[in-house]
Amino acid sequence: MQVLIPTTTIGWWLCADCGAEAPLPIPDISGYVQPCPDCAAEMALVCD
Ligand SMILES: [Zn+2]
Repeated sequence: MQVLIPTTTIGWWLCADCGAEAPLPIPDISGYVQPCPDCAAEMALVCD
């Protein structure tokens, strides 16, 4: 039996304000903004 790829994947997020990085889920919502756990600024998804 084949294992399905989970819909919730984890990605690395980078805060442009304080430079914090965190592995957080990538929600399946377009335009979703991940708040920084340190300063609550918008985080950007790091693509590698
Ligand atoms: Zn921050």
